[in-house]
Amino acid sequence: YDAKHRRDTVVVYAPESDHNTPERLSLLGDLRRALDPEVAAPDAGEITMYYQPQIEIQTGAVVGVEALLRWRHPKRGMVDPEELIKVAEQSAVMRLLTRRVVDDVVEQLAKWQAAGVCLRAAVNVSIRDLHTLEIVDQIRERLTRFAVSPAQLQLEITEGALMADPRRVLATLSELAKLGVAVALDDFGTGYSSMQHLRRLPLTEVKVDRSFVLGMATDADDHAIVRTVIDLAGALGLRVVAEGVEDERTWRLLRSVGCHVAQGWFYARPMPADELAEWLGRYRPLNPSS
Ligand code: C2E
Ligand code: MG
Ligand code: MG
Ligand code: MG
Repeated sequence: YDAKHRRDTVVVYAPESDHNTPERLSLLGDLRRALDPEVAAPDAGEITMYYQPQIEIQTGAVVGVEALLRWRHPKRGMVDPEELIKVAEQSAVMRLLTRRVVDDVVEQLAKWQAAGVCLRAAVNVSIRDLHTLEIVDQIRERLTRFAVSPAQLQLEITEGALMADPRRVLATLSELAKLGVAVALDDFGTGYSSMQHLRRLPLTEVKVDRSFVLGMATDADDHAIVRTVIDLAGALGLRVVAEGVEDERTWRLLRSVGCHVAQGWFYARPMPADELAEWLGRYRPLNPSS
């Protein structure tokens, strides 16, 4: 994420250690504290959401944003979200974290709505979040309370979520679909990438993993993989989002292979909600015929 924060990013988890090291337990304790509304008010700022624009390639229109978690630990500085999620997923804290993320994002959607900005926001959820229907109830309640349409919210799941308990995950996804909340399959191509998932799940969108997108301008294999995912998804009626678009060359390639939506530093980095409002005011689509 943001290069300016990269230097003070800390790695908090060594994937090879599966047990509760003192390091992990202390981080989880800190996270629990940061999430406790009694201790840290939501606007105390330790945990915040950043938003990254998603752009329709053919028109240049901003079609949505992806909400990405940021945790500025009082002592450790900015914590790498990927590492943080790996730790949180092993514990019940994950549910608290997702609860907070969904609450914040729906409230933000209502604020944008009041300001006349119509955006759709995608929220990343984890394996644990999909094992019960609790998240469906939470989303329903929150949308109703803030008068936000379900069509404005989207979830992003990874295939790992499906491998753990496919039956229960499918039940949750079906309820979300009934509610009108769309689901995207994130990081496609890095996990099990089963065709069954694309066929059987109530998905509307596939996100090509950024590792392939980053390489497609220089690596023929990556280029072939991205093209194939676009063709496959297109044949199944799914929208394709390319993440990790860092330069104009990649953007042009994606346009020429018919990718629908792009997201990446070429357009904008993830940013706080107030910066996003300014960015939207400044944003001018690239000339589609250039
Ligand atoms: P993801 O969902 O695949 O998110 C995309 C990641 O790519 C983000 O990293 C984003 O900042 C980064 N990115 C965007 N554009 C570019 C680009 O042009 N180049 C490069 N190199 N990277 C780009 P981030 O924010 O560090 O998040 C990492 C992962 O952590 C996410 O991957 C997601 O799996 C997880 N995550 C982040 N926020 C949340 C959250 O609220 N809940 C859950 N469950 N997971 C989250
Ligand atoms: Mg994502
Ligand atoms: Mg991804
Ligand atoms: Mg990822």
